[in-house]
Amino acid sequence: MSQANGRAAMTVDVLVCGGGVAGTMAAVAAARQGASVLLVERYGFLGGNATGGAVAQFNSWQTENGRRVIAGLASEVVERLRAYQAAGEHEVFVMSTGHRMDRVGYAPEVLKLVLDDLVTQAGVQPMLHAQVCGVVREGERIQAVHLLTKSGVIEVNPRVVIDTSGDIDVLHRAGADFLELDAGDALQPATMMFRFGPIDFARFDALAPAEMQALARQGYESGELARAALHSSRDPYSTDGWFNISRLGIDATDASALSRAEIEGRRQAWKAAAYLRRAVPGCEGGRLQAFATQVGIRETRRVRGDHVLTAEELLRPERFADGIACGAYPIDIHPAAGGELIYSGLGADHAYQIPYRSLIPSGLCNALVAGRGISATHAALAAIRVMTISMAVGQAAGTAAAMASQAGGAPDVRRVDAAALRASLVAQGSLVGE
Ligand SMILES: Cc1cc2nc3c(=O)[nH]c(=O)nc-3n(C[C@H](O)[C@H](O)[C@H](O)COP(=O)(O)OP(=O)(O)OC[C@H]3O[C@@H](n4cnc5c(N)ncnc54)[C@H](O)[C@@H]3O)c2cc1C
Repeated sequence: MSQANGRAAMTVDVLVCGGGVAGTMAAVAAARQGASVLLVERYGFLGGNATGGAVAQFNSWQTENGRRVIAGLASEVVERLRAYQAAGEHEVFVMSTGHRMDRVGYAPEVLKLVLDDLVTQAGVQPMLHAQVCGVVREGERIQAVHLLTKSGVIEVNPRVVIDTSGDIDVLHRAGADFLELDAGDALQPATMMFRFGPIDFARFDALAPAEMQALARQGYESGELARAALHSSRDPYSTDGWFNISRLGIDATDASALSRAEIEGRRQAWKAAAYLRRAVPGCEGGRLQAFATQVGIRETRRVRGDHVLTAEELLRPERFADGIACGAYPIDIHPAAGGELIYSGLGADHAYQIPYRSLIPSGLCNALVAGRGISATHAALAAIRVMTISMAVGQAAGTAAAMASQAGGAPDVRRVDAAALRASLVAQGSLVGE
């Protein structure tokens, strides 16, 4: 580290801000392509919603009829979790809405280890407990990003920046354009996940979808559940389940609202755990075992990019010459208030693509975005936000950033050749199912 303007300074090819699953995959992909990479994360561990938010299941690896659409680094994550005996089998289940869905459940604590292994083995430099606190922009270029750390403020001068902070804090500070919600739409609510157990899964899993739905509705109508759902996944290490049944309608970029939501989320989870114990077969002997480290955030800022991906394009599905990832997760909107879900299933063999241009923020030439803040409408994001797709998009962003940074001259992410990017992703085992 050198000194610049009286503070510690670093120069890297690729700076990845935000160590959720999108950012970690972006960092690993860029490093494996030979770039020097700094991965910045405000907490002391990687994973974001996937670990700190305790989401605990990777959904939708395939179309409803079983055509695989996600592989690459996302599959490697699952293989590495299995080596720790910390991921379940790939399973297909019927949701309370009657739709078929597939998933792999995992232990969020062990995912922290797997992400540590991935970044250190790829040669990524992790900078944990570091929060983005400033950005220096000159014209279309981000010249520097300032990090608040225990050692003081560090200035990083990157050739290319990838914003994977979920809330897209870097681009927000850089004055980028963001998409507005349409009239009548609201941000998807946040959820405080919690672990409950022990559960007698023989009895719990034997509940028919209609019985589960009736129990969920009864809990919602009695005021014990904030949402008419009993969604859960099994913790592979124990006879506990992770429950996704609280609902907090907030804008998580508002510090006061976020603080209130953490407190209200724990209160909702505590009440929901009492309901499980009182009313749900198989849960009579269980207790609340743990809250997620932080309330899970589904949606905040969406950047405006060279292409704004729409729900109509996912539903057609539109074929993009610069498609860099596929997905098959349906449009799944959790309304901010009320108990229900708005869930639009896809056809049996339906998969869609995400174009590279949705990763390029308008007006900037050395920045990319990946994960839950890419350039997509509210409804399109409701499909592509899941972790499988976030990992695939992260892998593409990291690969593109490495290509841009290695091209010589001042990096320009728009000069990355889409065909070469797609070929590289195929060679890496990603971009399957087209
Ligand atoms: C309750 C809930 C249930 C869900 N259920 C499922 C499911 O069942 N299956 C599924 O596949 N997906 C599910 N999802 C969606 C999925 O978890 C997220 O969309 C996905 O994890 C987003 O990943 P990300 O890396 O883009 O963002 P995040 O996970 O939000 O990661 C962003 C990272 O950036 C860091 N960061 C933020 N700001 C800064 C800053 N200023 N400086 C430094 N670091 C910063 C954060 O600490 C975090 O680590 C669910 C989401 C929620 C909230």
